[in-house]
Amino acid sequence: MKKVKVKALGNMFSIFGNRGNVWTDTAHAYQSGRGNLCGTPALSSNIAAMVGMEEVGCPECLKQIAISGYVQVPLNR
Ligand SMILES: [Zn+2]
Repeated sequence: MKKVKVKALGNMFSIFGNRGNVWTDTAHAYQSGRGNLCGTPALSSNIAAMVGMEEVGCPECLKQIAISGYVQVPLNR
């Protein structure tokens, strides 16, 4: 699935990920007042933000972004 820059999601979103997410490039999209879009609890230190990750790589978060239309993902033609 195509990764999405968290900046493209607007001010309500930030990047969230633990050490494992950083290593595997699967950072979550964290929505202010709601949590990670995929429902994964944001309990650990936010390593992804600390290292300056910019792209959401969690497949379930990306799915929710696409379904909810937070970002227009260009279709491959
Ligand atoms: Zn996620």
